[in-house]
Amino acid sequence: MITLKEALTKSQDELNRLKTQMEKKAKEGGLNAYIGFESSGEGVPILIKDNIQVKGWSLTCGSKILQGYIAPYEATAITHLKSHGMAPFGRANMDEFAMGSTTESSYYGKTLNPHNKEHVPGGSSGGSAAAVAGGIAIAALGSDTGGSIRQPAAYCGCVGMKPTYGRVSRYGLGAYSSSLDQIGPITQNVEDAAILYDAIAGHDPKDSTSADMETVSVAQNLNPDRKLTIAVIDNYISEADSQTQRVFAQTVEKLRNAGHTIIHKNRLNTQYDIATYYIIATAEATTNLARYDGIRYGNRASCNNVSELFYNTRSEGFGDEVKRRILLGNFVLSSGFYDAYYLKAQKVRHLIRDEFNAIFKEADLILSPVAPSSAPKIGSISDPLEMYKSDMYTLSINLAGLPALSLPVGKDSANGLPIGLQLIAKAFDEQTLFDGALSLERAVNYQKQ
Ligand code: GLN
Repeated sequence: MITLKEALTKSQDELNRLKTQMEKKAKEGGLNAYIGFESSGEGVPILIKDNIQVKGWSLTCGSKILQGYIAPYEATAITHLKSHGMAPFGRANMDEFAMGSTTESSYYGKTLNPHNKEHVPGGSSGGSAAAVAGGIAIAALGSDTGGSIRQPAAYCGCVGMKPTYGRVSRYGLGAYSSSLDQIGPITQNVEDAAILYDAIAGHDPKDSTSADMETVSVAQNLNPDRKLTIAVIDNYISEADSQTQRVFAQTVEKLRNAGHTIIHKNRLNTQYDIATYYIIATAEATTNLARYDGIRYGNRASCNNVSELFYNTRSEGFGDEVKRRILLGNFVLSSGFYDAYYLKAQKVRHLIRDEFNAIFKEADLILSPVAPSSAPKIGSISDPLEMYKSDMYTLSINLAGLPALSLPVGKDSANGLPIGLQLIAKAFDEQTLFDGALSLERAVNYQKQ
């Protein structure tokens, strides 16, 4: 597949032919990465996760409850794409309401990993990552609340970037956890990620959490020759499997050989990351999902009165994982438990941010695993707590609001699947993140491997 950078030089006729080819190949390939082939406007076709509003397109968030809903307005990220020579093309499958790590919880069927169809592509932006890695999309947009861009990119062997919280407008993004959600690019390489990030970043008065800061093009200022100080968090690594640890150690060596300085740090409270995230995320999700009542959006179940309307619509419309999180969220927000769980989690969230800030006093970037292993087999994770554990390396970044980028650096020698690692930067220092990532991409030379 041609890169985004190359595609931006092509004529509309060539791009139209490419769209036809992509649709055909996607239908034949059987990955179930696309769940729709809508197209609007002229420009380089970009695949869009099914929780980002494109005016006039259906939007389901991977849920039955939103079946039949047509977006009446456009997400700001889509408006920005259109003014940068790109255009939305196709709907990417996702875990229901972006809750999940495998894209197994979509009402519209599982997505498969293009490297081995017995394995998951990761989630929740599994459709976006599988399509980019499988050669059926040039680039895609995903959303990352606790790892949903970076982890599927790592499992599929492509690049995924989560911007600083507030950098990209959330206007028109189906809300999961509003204080954590960010839209970001999934691409074939680091430079394409920088180009797509540039297009969507910027202040938006329609999103009150959008940062009112100037954005300077990172793609035009990419400098892989900067020598950076990169921290590795030693007590983080031991929880990953041996393949991930091996690839991690090799990557640290490659960074050192590329002239970067490696320093060693510890984070003291990593055992609280998962609990903190799942308290805050479910509390916010409960509130955000209250709007799906059968009256305002999508599907309506049959009923005899108004309480049956709510009850039946929500019972039939939401899947198990979404219901589990609504229950959890209501529990942590309920009077009597609010202080013990929700308020405590907010305090721990601050401590996590402080820990990262302390590391960034000495380091430009942090290198970390994205997931504790390569992509697991479909159906192999049946215990939800085990699934939550697989997010251990990504959640804290969202809790701290930091930008991070995952890129493929090696392969699991047991199953041949890609292993990705992430670089993490200070808030709003996307330039250093991309500079370091480009340097690492060159040092690793993954395509040659
Ligand atoms: N796996 C995490 C969750 O289920 C993260 C999902 C995401 O980033 N949207 O909450």
